[in-house]
Amino acid sequence: MIYQRSSALFAEAKKYIPGGVNSPVRAFKAVGGDPIFVKKAKGAYLYDEDGNKLIDYIASWGPLILGHAHEPVINAVVEKAQNGTSFGMPTEIETELAKLAISMVPNMDKIRFVNSGTEACMSAVRLARGFTGKDKIIKFAGCYHGHSDSFLIQAGSGAVTFGSPNSPGVTQGTAKDTLLAVYNNLDSVKALVNANKGELAAIIIEPIAGNMGCIIPSDEFIKGLRDICTEEGILLIFDEVMTGFRLAKGGAQEVLNIKADIVTYGKVIGGGLPVGAFAARTEIMDFLAPDGPVYQAGTLSGNPLAMSAGLAMLTELNNNPEVFDSLAKKTEYLHKGIAEVLTEKKVTHQINRYGSMISVHFTDKPVVDFATSAKGNNETFKKYFHGMLEKGIYLPPSAFESYFLNDALSYEDLDATINALREIEL
Ligand code: PLP
Repeated sequence: MIYQRSSALFAEAKKYIPGGVNSPVRAFKAVGGDPIFVKKAKGAYLYDEDGNKLIDYIASWGPLILGHAHEPVINAVVEKAQNGTSFGMPTEIETELAKLAISMVPNMDKIRFVNSGTEACMSAVRLARGFTGKDKIIKFAGCYHGHSDSFLIQAGSGAVTFGSPNSPGVTQGTAKDTLLAVYNNLDSVKALVNANKGELAAIIIEPIAGNMGCIIPSDEFIKGLRDICTEEGILLIFDEVMTGFRLAKGGAQEVLNIKADIVTYGKVIGGGLPVGAFAARTEIMDFLAPDGPVYQAGTLSGNPLAMSAGLAMLTELNNNPEVFDSLAKKTEYLHKGIAEVLTEKKVTHQINRYGSMISVHFTDKPVVDFATSAKGNNETFKKYFHGMLEKGIYLPPSAFESYFLNDALSYEDLDATINALREIEL
């Protein structure tokens, strides 16, 4: 495939935008080469500026669970835009989306909309601190909760891809309040809790992680976290920016059967427009301004176009919950196909999968935390990524990212993906 125009556009973008991109992972630094510039997308396919058609496995990093340019979503946005794009005043559709989201996630009484997953997680932590009167939080190495200061401590996703899990610019003062535990290791949590008795506001976690590849929590670990939080009066924050409305109506809380105290959302809840949200029971949410003392705000929060996209998306998922099953089956099919071909090729690998999230790791040991994920062979990953791209398959351009399947993918697309893998050299 030829990617000439994409390269030219990238060269031009680099003159005016740092690194040529507005979010680092897009730049292909982990895999080398120039990023692909997209012209349009429909269903499971991306169409780039060189006229190539690619099968897409990232779906804008998760939001487009029903495929690109999904008609009900597009129609809702276009219709809404006719009446104005932003008012900075309340609109009925905010309550409609809030009601629907809350009905799909049974243990949440109130929800506040923001503009990104970063804002959702940042606000959730501030709320937890305000509610508990404590300062410290625990996060897990390799988990990514957006780019706000408190979270850029051993962060996953682009932060680790670019070798800056602890970013310059985050002050020591901020960093000291973020304690770091090891995913799937309850002892590491207990040690921190014991050493910081009475000082912890929250434990924040990706309940199924997607930012160090896809990593699944053991039952013992996730139940143990809930118990520790309950016993110690610490709020458990589930960052469901990736998993929310993707794994099930009730997200990871539902599939893991664990109830968090605060949950953050993004991606699917905005249907591809910039939306995040955080939700909790009334007692906690009433701490937020204007009812309570914890300040949080946003000029474009609850934006009518974003709300209409989210409402169209969630309405469809709520009415057709079989989508979650259909996606999980497709992902399982892909898993089996990839495993078969890599085994035929005698390539050492691990595949992690939960619902419609999946990641391939070129390593011989089970991948259960950041350290085991980081052991993956990046040279093999690069060959895999570029080999697949040459065949028109668009995978995440970093070994630390999960794929996100969308329901527009057909079994023919999955077969084409598996056959492409068969044809490339690793
Ligand atoms: N939390 C998780 C689990 C994420 O995966 C991400 C982004 O990928 C974020 C938070 C931050 O969301 P955003 O990029 O919308 O700020």
